[in-house]
Amino acid sequence: MRIRVLTGAGISAESGIPTFRGKDGLWKGFRAEDLATPQAFSKNPIKVWEWYCWRRQIIGQAEPNEAHKLLADWERSHDLWIITQNVDGLHQRAGSKNVIELHGNIWRLRCTACGKVWEDEKACSKIPPRCECGAIARPDVVWFGEALPSEAIRKSYELAGDAEIFIVVGTSGVVQPAANLPFVAKSFGARIYVVNPQPTIHTEIADLFLQTSASEGLRRIDELLQSEGPS
Ligand code: NAD
Ligand code: ZN
Repeated sequence: MRIRVLTGAGISAESGIPTFRGKDGLWKGFRAEDLATPQAFSKNPIKVWEWYCWRRQIIGQAEPNEAHKLLADWERSHDLWIITQNVDGLHQRAGSKNVIELHGNIWRLRCTACGKVWEDEKACSKIPPRCECGAIARPDVVWFGEALPSEAIRKSYELAGDAEIFIVVGTSGVVQPAANLPFVAKSFGARIYVVNPQPTIHTEIADLFLQTSASEGLRRIDELLQSEGPS
């Protein structure tokens, strides 16, 4: 079965990582929209880095949950791709290989001058971290108002277009262009399954809306896939 899964912050909520728009999404009274922007970084790189260091600490202590693990299992028996908006790397830690990161990865850094990209788990020992060229480094993530990596978005549209089942898990559906992918999949004939404790814009086009947590919802879909037999 060709299964494509769009994941958002909600799939990592059961790992203890706060979502952006949930009640725990605030940091020192700031909203993500006020910190995850190029303007905020150029105005106060230390403040933005402090926020990322707080998030790195939470993410560093988190473990993949049952939802991440089920998706990694499905990759063994299906043609499965995960398109994630998350920057936490938990899909890969659960064992998934076919992962497209639309919004980058919190463990990577990017130089604001020469563009060098590298991974550094200890970047927070001295903030703001610097590149070997001397310039300040930023988290290699996509901020509000910035373009997504073009190859990642091209591949995501291609995958959405040939999906048989398109599963949307734990995303509020307000960040574009990711939020558009389920509509593309639907228009090309995919069945749409939505897993979220709250209704979203995607529930309108859902063939199946599981109004529950990511782990419970994916467990139910796992049963469905097994009852359909091997693909
Ligand atoms: P969001 O915070 O806007 O929405 C989270 C969604 O998850 C909501 O619809 C909520 O109802 C749902 N949810 C909450 N608990 C859930 C659970 N237990 N199971 C399933 N669903 C649950 O997040 P988003 O839609 O991913 O917003 C996009 C932006 O948030 C992205 O830019 C992403 O990079 C960023 N983000 C990432 C992380 C992470 O990497 N873990 C964390 C916070 C935000
Ligand atoms: Zn540099």
